[in-house]
Amino acid sequence: MVVLARPQTLAEACTLAAERGDDAKFVSGGTAVVLMLTQGLIAPETLISLDGLRGDAALPGWTAAEGTPGELVIGGGMTLADVARDPLVRDLAPSLAHAASMVGNVRIRNVATLGGNVAEADYASDPPCVLVSLGAELDVVGPEGRRTIPAREMFLDFYTTALATGEVLTAIRVPRHPRASADYLKFCSVSAEDRPCVGVATVLELTGDGEVVALDAAIGAVGSVPQRFEDVLSDEVGRVWSAEIASRVAQEYARRITPMDDARGSRAYRGRLIDVLVRRSLATVAREQEARRGA
Ligand SMILES: Cc1cc2nc3c(=O)[nH]c(=O)nc-3n(C[C@H](O)[C@H](O)[C@H](O)COP(=O)(O)OP(=O)(O)OC[C@H]3O[C@@H](n4cnc5c(N)ncnc54)[C@H](O)[C@@H]3O)c2cc1C
Repeated sequence: MVVLARPQTLAEACTLAAERGDDAKFVSGGTAVVLMLTQGLIAPETLISLDGLRGDAALPGWTAAEGTPGELVIGGGMTLADVARDPLVRDLAPSLAHAASMVGNVRIRNVATLGGNVAEADYASDPPCVLVSLGAELDVVGPEGRRTIPAREMFLDFYTTALATGEVLTAIRVPRHPRASADYLKFCSVSAEDRPCVGVATVLELTGDGEVVALDAAIGAVGSVPQRFEDVLSDEVGRVWSAEIASRVAQEYARRITPMDDARGSRAYRGRLIDVLVRRSLATVAREQEARRGA
């Protein structure tokens, strides 16, 4: 039998997690945990509900988004539905709001949390590659104290993150890119409610003369973790934007990634999609940058 513990503060949750160790598992929205339990994939002795944290005065931002001069801070307990519709997230991190709006269906989004989505680290999730493309940072608190994990270092393997036992993902911090454009393109091969066959997140910022100031691209659902190639991106910084840059990046990503084969798409299909979708997503952010220049 599984015991459900309902701590009312983050401090209590961390203490419980430290006491129970690997015999315990956090549960937030429960959309992944309950499936894993019913399928017998996990058998924790204790489920530690994070729901009580919404009343923890020491964690006021748990279910909210807040803007600071340099970043957008999203509470780990914010549901994907709230992330998708929050005016601040839509304004400061539109690609993340869009990715959240594309997750599963409304029943899932209404209870699933952004923290749970990241901590689950399913290879076929939408938000992780967006957070990687935006250079987000993840605040965690655990029995050993607090620390920050860059999103680019969070995803280690299938369902494996840099979180240590007992660490709660308390906040997702997205740096502001006020002059950049960002996009998320989700391609589903089965149904619109399905997890992605391929997900592409891009970021582009150009100077008034059209030179590349910032360029990013991260691909989800093609391997165990989001795929991103720093050298391919940094090579293009300082060049005047053209469709050739989009082609080069798309082709190089398609060449370097050996996509996985699963029910959502074969290796060859996914490889072709990477090339097509990276070009398409970069064309979208380039058009937005052009429009801003013309405005
Ligand atoms: C039908 C269906 C369709 C789906 N479609 C999509 C899709 O299209 N795209 C997509 O990206 N995802 C999809 N998902 C996955 C869904 O987004 C995740 O299940 C959900 O985001 C997990 O959040 P949760 O709050 O429910 O996490 P939970 O199920 O409560 O927990 C998930 C994992 O994270 C841990 N955890 C939870 N919160 C925290 C925290 N704050 N700190 C540390 N650890 C934590 C738990 O211990 C557990 O290991 C789908 C799921 C279902 C059931």
